[in-house]
Amino acid sequence: MSFDLNSLLRPHIAKLQPYTSARDEYTGKEGVFLDANENPFGSITEQDFNRYPDPYQSALKAEIAKIKAVRPTQIFLGNGSDEAIDLLYRAFCNPGKDNVILLPPTYGMYEVSANINDVEIRKVALTEDFQLQPEKILAAADAKSKILFICSPNNPSANKAKREDVLFLLKNFKGLVVVDEAYIDFSDEPSFTTELDNYPNLLVMQTFSKAWGLASLRLGMAFASEEIIRILNKIKPPYNISGLTQDTVLAAITDKEKVDRMIREILDERDFLQAELEKLPFVQKIHPSHANFLLVKMPNATQVYDDLIEEKVIVRNRAKVLLCEDCLRITVGTRGENEAFLSALSKVNSQIESSRH
Ligand SMILES: *Cc1c(COP(=O)(O)O)cnc(C)c1O
Repeated sequence: MSFDLNSLLRPHIAKLQPYTSARDEYTGKEGVFLDANENPFGSITEQDFNRYPDPYQSALKAEIAKIKAVRPTQIFLGNGSDEAIDLLYRAFCNPGKDNVILLPPTYGMYEVSANINDVEIRKVALTEDFQLQPEKILAAADAKSKILFICSPNNPSANKAKREDVLFLLKNFKGLVVVDEAYIDFSDEPSFTTELDNYPNLLVMQTFSKAWGLASLRLGMAFASEEIIRILNKIKPPYNISGLTQDTVLAAITDKEKVDRMIREILDERDFLQAELEKLPFVQKIHPSHANFLLVKMPNATQVYDDLIEEKVIVRNRAKVLLCEDCLRITVGTRGENEAFLSALSKVNSQIESSRH
């Protein structure tokens, strides 16, 4: 396959000299460190944070490489996946000239980040059952289409894309293909990281925010060829992952058992929530889920959403989103939270029904 990364890259990024930090120029651990204008006495906090963290997150990447079966040089770490999304736009999309292809309904940050970077958006809707339309996607693309964002399992529809459709697009789309796998841990689908060596235009995003339960630490991962990762590293803010985040994740990452236990519990609760929702006569559709949430269709969804808030139960209203008319997105909670949601849902629905008779 002919894929020329340099012709995709913005010319000034290709030429860019990156910032070299103090910790780039001397990487030893021992010594008298008078190179980075840090506070030598410690920190205002009990725990010391006075030294700048490793800008390359080497220790953490070595561990992530093991559990994800990739090479450390294929890993970029960002301040959440959102940072990777933004850096991709800045590396590859010339504002006011290039475009990206988005597949609504999907994750809102691809569009917001395109707008922040003044990049044209071309939308190719998913089908009624939230599948890709590969031929239409290719037809919408031209030489200035730099990135295609595929979210699988998709937020907010919860389903996964057909693997053969993604592979077809990897073979035929001329720009970068980003596969956002934020919810992959809740799916039986294998990750596309296994395809990295076959497709130089593939970038897979994952995150510690969902299955790992670390949304507050802000740690997102991108996996791609060494060439692509080198570009992202070149343009990222030098110290984009805090030392606290690096140390905390490094200390916990070997506890794969706990992650697996939480995932199993979430999947059990997803089954429970689905089974209970199926018993409710007013629920019109529960979309099949490969994620930690359910997309549920019901009459008067916006009214239900508002009334649930009165009951102190907060879900996500997707009723105005393309192909999600009258749908609420419900994150799977603990058993107690799910029961609280279900009883509030029944209560507000019967209130709405009786007010209409
Ligand atoms: C939650 C989510 C993410 C994670 O974003 P972070 O910035 O890593 O917290 C990424 N993509 C999708 C589709 C998501 O729903």
